[in-house]
Amino acid sequence: MAPARSERAYAQRVRGLGTTIFAEMSDLARRTGAINLGQGFPDADGPPEIVEAAVEAMRTGHNQYAPGPGVPALRAAIAAHQARHYGIGLDPDAEVVVTTGATEAVAAALLGLVDPGDEVVVLEPYYDSYVAGIQMAGGVRRPVTLRAPDFRLDVDALRAAITPRTRLVLLNSPHNPTGTVLTHDELAAVAEVAVEHDLVVVTDEVYEHLTYDGVEHVPIATLPGMAERTVTISSAGKTFSFTGWKVGWATGPAELVGAVLAAKQYLTFTSGAPLQPAVAMALGLPDAVLVDLRVDLQRRRDVLCDGLASLGLAVFVPAGTYFATTDISPLGYADGTAFCLDLPVRAGVVAIPHQVFYDDAAAGRALVRWAFCKRDDVLAEALDRLGRAFG
Ligand code: PMP
Ligand code: GLN
Repeated sequence: MAPARSERAYAQRVRGLGTTIFAEMSDLARRTGAINLGQGFPDADGPPEIVEAAVEAMRTGHNQYAPGPGVPALRAAIAAHQARHYGIGLDPDAEVVVTTGATEAVAAALLGLVDPGDEVVVLEPYYDSYVAGIQMAGGVRRPVTLRAPDFRLDVDALRAAITPRTRLVLLNSPHNPTGTVLTHDELAAVAEVAVEHDLVVVTDEVYEHLTYDGVEHVPIATLPGMAERTVTISSAGKTFSFTGWKVGWATGPAELVGAVLAAKQYLTFTSGAPLQPAVAMALGLPDAVLVDLRVDLQRRRDVLCDGLASLGLAVFVPAGTYFATTDISPLGYADGTAFCLDLPVRAGVVAIPHQVFYDDAAAGRALVRWAFCKRDDVLAEALDRLGRAFG
């Protein structure tokens, strides 16, 4: 996609990582004036009272370094959130660390827990920062593919991916980009494998509150034998529609969280001092705030999925996340990347090709991801444009 640039000066740990597809496609949208249904960020901010709390924190002197593990009020609020929603008990002083978004939590977990040569089992299609994090830690990724049309976990494939070098399973549910929400049975299968082989599980649950049609998100840390081996990651970005704040967290047993903090303290040490008290306040807001967001997103999911289906596309309606996936073959394309590069020109819309999230590129070749976390008028205009181009 982007012109190849020399990487001769690059250390091996970053060689071949390229530019993230999200930056690349958002840049393409900016350059072409296309509607951006690529990168997953809402185009309306979250609740104004959360912004006010951050402004207030800035005005009242929360402008110097926050403590490395996070401000106590936020760590307490994260522990209270895990207890209230999932019955998970955490010591906010030892079992919670605040990070610069979920991205830093994932990177710090991999750097803190994976030794060179260790194998990391990861669901494919994978979120791109996982690949980078595993590579920077010197780990070896072992993908387990979620396949169209239903993108369920293949437990036999999971078992087959485990070797004596396996150190860690990196999970993501609700899953980006497929929208799969792992069921209790699927999670129980992962838990069984993890316990049997004494593996650590790092689970990225940033879309924990964005599930639809009554589908429930189950944190794997709640399954028997898992609390002591699981690092759970989330972020205020998706839960409250403030992706630019980059306030995330990792929770779990003290030793595992300690390993995350050991790496994190030398990546950023700390960030977002005035944002942290605002997120603490947000986590204490009534559940109605989360329910309203979820109901509204489900409605927008349906608008986008119905619109894409009416173009003749096979749409995989997601049970969670910001994203719907389609097979674009009915539009005469075999390759999602070629389709996404043509799309701004043909239709004035940007979307994300799945194939960049696979080792097994064939499994994702004809799949394209569309974000529905956008305003109604933006979705309507995008569908109108797609209808004119392909209808
Ligand atoms: N994990 C997944 C699955 C994501 O989709 C994203 C993008 N929001 C992130 C992690 C990164 O989260 P943050 O912006 O909090 O770093
Ligand atoms: N999580 C967002 C997505 O999947 C992108 C975040 C980023 O640009 N790194 O679209």
